Amino acid sequence: MRRRVWVHQALVCVLTLGIFCSQAVTGTAAAASMTPFGPQRFAHAHATYAITTKSTYYRQIWQKAIRAWNATGVFKFKLGHAQSAQIDLSTDTAKQAAAMGDDVGMTNYWARHNEFIAEVCSLNPSLMKEYDYSRSDATHVAEHELGHAMGLNHNPSKHSVMYYRNRSEGIQKVDIAGVKQRYTTPAGETS
Ligand SMILES: [Zn+2]
Repeated sequence: MRRRVWVHQALVCVLTLGIFCSQAVTGTAAAASMTPFGPQRFAHAHATYAITTKSTYYRQIWQKAIRAWNATGVFKFKLGHAQSAQIDLSTDTAKQAAAMGDDVGMTNYWARHNEFIAEVCSLNPSLMKEYDYSRSDATHVAEHELGHAMGLNHNPSKHSVMYYRNRSEGIQKVDIAGVKQRYTTPAGETS
């Protein structure tokens, strides 16, 4: 039997808890016309997902984030089966959440030849509760993780859903442009 070697590249992203988001910080945000992306992408501008969290609230959060990205037209998330979907959308258990520290969201991926094979995006409910994340804040975190799922990196600008401490921003034009460019650029090349 031939052994298949899969490259395991875990931990794409860690979204740091945005507790300072409401404070005005000047002069730190660089202007970026497009949210940057790394070498990995899905083979096509679409992927299947399954929402595996048992929480009704967070199921709705993931659904809202999926709808928001699908509405942009640059990538299509299609509902798949829990056993075979490419992207698993979950929430952390209290035990997992404790190990996440200050991270309200996280995306792990497995890729081969710079093409995503499987991904797990998770949200951290206990931290979001602790810091009073609204439904819309939580949706922005979910949109951020889906951005990583498609291959986006962090944007140094605060006016991007991919800002590393993002809490208040939804999907921006720079983010849509990043995904569009990601899927017209071959796997292995970066922005
Ligand atoms: Zn991130």
